[in-house]
Parts: sequence; C-alpha cells; structure tokens
Amino acid sequence: MLGYAFTEREKILIDLVKKIGEEYIQPRALEWDEREAYDPLPIKALADADLFGLIVPEEYGGLGWGVKEMCLAVEWLSYFCAGVSTTYAASFLGAYPIILFGNKAQKERYLPLIAKGRYLCAFALTEPQAGSDAFAIKTSAKLQGDYYVLNGVKQWITNGGIADIYIVIALTDPTKGSRGASAFIVEKDDPGFVVGKKEKKLGLRASLTTDLIFNDCKVPKDRLIGKEGTGFLVALKTLDYARCGAGAQALGIAQAALEISLRHAKRRIQFGQPVYNFQAVSHTFAEMIMRLESARALVYQVASSIDSGAKDFSGASAMAKCYATDQAMWITERAIQMMGGYGYMRDYPVQKLFRDAKCLQIYEGTNEIQKNIIARELAKFYK
Ligand SMILES: Cc1cc2nc3c(=O)[nH]c(=O)nc-3n(C[C@H](O)[C@H](O)[C@H](O)COP(=O)(O)OP(=O)(O)OC[C@H]3O[C@@H](n4cnc5c(N)ncnc54)[C@H](O)[C@@H]3O)c2cc1C
Repeated sequence: MLGYAFTEREKILIDLVKKIGEEYIQPRALEWDEREAYDPLPIKALADADLFGLIVPEEYGGLGWGVKEMCLAVEWLSYFCAGVSTTYAASFLGAYPIILFGNKAQKERYLPLIAKGRYLCAFALTEPQAGSDAFAIKTSAKLQGDYYVLNGVKQWITNGGIADIYIVIALTDPTKGSRGASAFIVEKDDPGFVVGKKEKKLGLRASLTTDLIFNDCKVPKDRLIGKEGTGFLVALKTLDYARCGAGAQALGIAQAALEISLRHAKRRIQFGQPVYNFQAVSHTFAEMIMRLESARALVYQVASSIDSGAKDFSGASAMAKCYATDQAMWITERAIQMMGGYGYMRDYPVQKLFRDAKCLQIYEGTNEIQKNIIARELAKFYK
C-alpha cells in the first residue's frame, strides 16, 4: 500500500519475477504442495532470466547486485510459492561463502556456473545434535595427503539431492572449539558422499530437504574455503547476509495472504453485507497492513544498509528476519480466520501460506536465537 521509491533496475527486477511467478509458478503451486514435489521448471526459468547471477560479481558472470535486489526477487517469488523461493534463496546461502571467502581459483571455477544457474548450491551446517547449538557439530574433516576426508551426517539440508555443490561445515580440529571448524565445497559426485532421506514437511513442500551422509568422503584439499579454523566465521557471516532473505520471504507470503483474504472478505456476504463491513474484520485488515508495511520497511532498510557497506549488521539482519517472519505468521493466521472455513480448506491457498510461514520462524536460526543475537548486539551498542 505504501509507495516505495524503487530504482529503475529494481522495478525491472520485480516485474520480471512477477512474470515468472505468473507463468511458471502460480498455476502449479498448490499441486506441488499437495504432491510434495520439486519441479525444476521455475528454477530453469529463473536461470534463463539470469536471476541466479543476482549477487554474483560481474567479473564472474553475474549481475553484481546486492542484498536489496536479492530480497526483492525472493519476496516476489514467495508471493507465488515460498517452496520455490526456498530452493532459490538456499542456493544463495550456498553461494555466499564462495563470494565472500572463496579464493580466486574457487571463484573462477564455481561462480560463473552458479551465475548461469547451471550449478545449484546448498549450505550444510545443521546436524541431528546440533541445531541452534551449531558449535556442537560432529562431522569431521581430516587432512590425508591431498584430500580432506569427511565423516558425519548433516540434517535437514535444503536442496539436498538437487544441488551440484554443498558448502559443508566440518571439524578439522575438535580440540579448538569455535575455531576448530572449516568450510568445504563438496561436489555432488564426490566419492563417499550420499544424499539421505527426503523429509516430509508441514510447509515449503515444493522445496527439498534431506540428510547428507559423508562416509570417508574424499574432498580435494583445494576445496577448503578460507583457512582451517574459519568454518564458523564463514557460516555466521553467510547467515548475516542471507537472513534478510528469510525476512523477504515473509513479506511475499504475508502480501499474498492479505490480498487473498481481503478479496474474499469484500465479496463474502453474511447478514446481508460483505463481512469486510464488520469492524472486527476491517480492523484486523488494518492491523495486517500496518504489520506488513513495517516489516517491509525494516527488511528493505536493513538490506540497503548492508549494500551501502555497513560493517556490523548481525543484529540488524536478525531483527529483519525475526520481525518480518513473526508478522507473516500472525498475518497468515488472521487471513485464515478472516476467511472462516474457506481459509481452512486445501482448495484455497491461504492455509498453504500459513504452513509455509511457520518454517521461517525456525530455519536460518530460530527467532529465539535471533532475539539472543539482537540482545547481544544491543548491549554492545549502548555501552
Ligand atoms: C525446512 C527446513 C530447512 C532447513 N534447511 C537447512 C539448511 O539448508 N542448512 C542447514 O544447515 N540447516 C537447515 N535447517 C535447520 C535449521 O537451521 C534448524 O532447524 C534451526 O537452526 C533450529 O535448530 P533445531 O531445529 O535443531 O531446534 P533446536 O535448536 O533443538 O531448538 C528447539 C527450541 O529451543 C529453542 N532454543 C534453543 N537454544 C536456545 C537458546 N540458546 N536460547 C533460546 N531458545 C533456544 C529454539 O529457539 C527452539 O524453539 C532447516 C530446517 C528446516 C525446518
């Protein structure tokens, strides 16, 4: 509802994503959700439109754009299907470590393929015993001659089975605690690497989530990202960049929920008039739009400040993620309520938006963990 002063390039990007959404996603999103099916069609359309190159520097064949543009693309993809936007955004989560910390050879080898959409990426930190407590990972990487040998299991990894490369955080020296992990680029055909079971999920069902199993998996030593011991630094910095993307997913989902339920409320006649005429209903919509626009303003502001070179933005990106995803949960729940039984039926899309929104409060760090980050940064800011 608020007018945003988008740049020309932002407007072109939004229009392009909407066109892809209308043509390749909207007609099939409910069917993918029902069948829990990943469909490569929209991913190919995004690749053909060069949208996997969005954040890849121009010298490596990308567009060299920023977090703000990444957010706009993810927001409008999520408007059509957050399962598809999860596949897309998780690939950036896997690309960021190479963009931010990769050496020249790694960038030359991988980034042009990522930019063209020929290599889909994944980011693997979580393990069965290490969720919020990422430092509790056990996957190990031991240097043997020219290879690191990886052993362990990663859990709930987005794009498992469809990614071409996986950024894997593994312990190179378990005695060194937070400085004992390193980040590796694992290719899908590396010996000893197997994709495990596909999870059945509440939402985001067009996106694949699997285990990854490393059984004496041999990775050439030149696939170490940065130096040994910097794995958690790579992971945390990557998440700082990517978290605005989760906030942007929330915006797209909430926008769709608001529009669908509002249209319904204006047409649904009860007691001889549209239910929108009842103040209990219209005030709920007023609350929805206030929450959505404040979340949008926060996500855009944080993304822009990262792009303009802000140095320390962990707290800000945590705020954008936590606030926007909490609003999306609230808005999608209210959207169902405003539609009554129609909102609850699987023939209508609002229940999908509600289920999709739930995951955003959990992945890329739960919202409780985001509040821990915000509180920590706040205490540093006001000494
Ligand atoms: C669909 C999906 C896709 C995912 N994709 C990926 C991926 O691509 N790559 C990847 O590495 N991981 C991925 N994850 C994992 C995700 O990042 C973790 O689920 C998340 O970090 C939380 O960990 P957990 O689920 O083990 O919850 P737990 O850590 O067990 O937390 C349980 C509860 O305790 C709370 N809690 C825990 N510790 C604290 C604390 N210190 N303070 C306050 N509250 C606390 C949590 O907030 C939560 O409410 C994915 C998860 C899902 C559901």
